[in-house]
Amino acid sequence: MDFLAKKYLFTPGPVPVPPKALLTMAQPMTHHRLPEFSEILKEIRENLKYLFQTKNNVYFFASSGTGAMEAAILNLFSPGDKVLVVSAGKFGQRWFELAKTFGLNPLVIDLPWGKAVKPEQVEEVLNSHPDIKGVLLQACETSTGVKHPVKEIAQLTKNRETVIVVDAITGLGVFDIPMDEWGLDVVITGSQKALSLPPGLSFIAFSEKAEKLSEKSTLPKYYFSLKKEKKAYEKDTTSFTPAVSLLLGLRVILQRIKEIGLKALFEHYQVQANACRAAVKALGLKIFPEVPSESLTVIEVPEGVKTGELINFLKNKLGIIFAGGQDHLKGKIIRITHMGDQSLFDLLVAISALEVGLNLFGYQVELGAGVKVAEKVIFEHLKHRYF
Ligand SMILES: *Cc1c(COP(=O)(O)O)cnc(C)c1O
Repeated sequence: MDFLAKKYLFTPGPVPVPPKALLTMAQPMTHHRLPEFSEILKEIRENLKYLFQTKNNVYFFASSGTGAMEAAILNLFSPGDKVLVVSAGKFGQRWFELAKTFGLNPLVIDLPWGKAVKPEQVEEVLNSHPDIKGVLLQACETSTGVKHPVKEIAQLTKNRETVIVVDAITGLGVFDIPMDEWGLDVVITGSQKALSLPPGLSFIAFSEKAEKLSEKSTLPKYYFSLKKEKKAYEKDTTSFTPAVSLLLGLRVILQRIKEIGLKALFEHYQVQANACRAAVKALGLKIFPEVPSESLTVIEVPEGVKTGELINFLKNKLGIIFAGGQDHLKGKIIRITHMGDQSLFDLLVAISALEVGLNLFGYQVELGAGVKVAEKVIFEHLKHRYF
């Protein structure tokens, strides 16, 4: 590490946490059964409804995001239930593994990594298997940066008995996923991605239709029981000890989201993503996913680049941390997040580091070529917004 090098976390989770949230979380411990804490819970729960764009309760657990995925399976289904998994990367695979682990019968739409599912593909399977209880997918498949057509798929499940279960861990709070308006049955998120908090909180909301289905579920559950959690919710508390410090940080983040407003928040990510995509193209590189999400930009690395060495050099010598690819995409892609506490100009740091890294590790680009077009996108946005 270079002397005094500041760390820049450009990984798609964990992400940089705003200092105000960090300082709030460093406060002396409080007790979760105090009346003051119930008041804080009430505020957090109201603001979570705003974030999820729902009238339904939003529950949280002291776990990473996968905990809420597990909670969805445990509370909705029974052994042998047929579900449809959209698998187009690491996190789609996780739905499949969870479904298998708990004795469900998962059918899979298995897509090459980087592809988005087509609503017709889902429709076809639903038509030939009317007994499918749930469709499980990601809003954004973080391993490839692809965005799935959640809204269109919800149109298909709306008039069937099937529920749609959306892992929106890198979608919610980045782009528009209005739970009630689109008729989504289960929406899930976690703390260490779009919510700009440390890892350790997962969130889940159930529609009325999902709640009805959950009454029939026979899978055993204890910590992740939503029925138990609902009873506690009604008394302005939680069943078990919540992650108190993280919730205090969450309170700050949600207040900020409310203040900024969802529309402006989505626009911020859109500008970052547009600027980054423009830079990638200006450098003669390709965007990897078929339908790119605004949560992160995933770059296809040209043949001959020593990607692992590039990433390690930036990480170890300069404190600039990019994510590479997982499994068979290792060495083939670079992932740069737009989530977390980042100003638009932090993106220019990422792009200039990428330019330098590419030149050092096997691919010649004109220094500044990417930064120039990204800065232009940012400039146009600011001019339009403020002048
Ligand atoms: C990060 C992530 C998860 C959950 O991973 P955890 O490590 O359990 O937090 C699930 N789905 C997606 C799409 C993710 O990006």
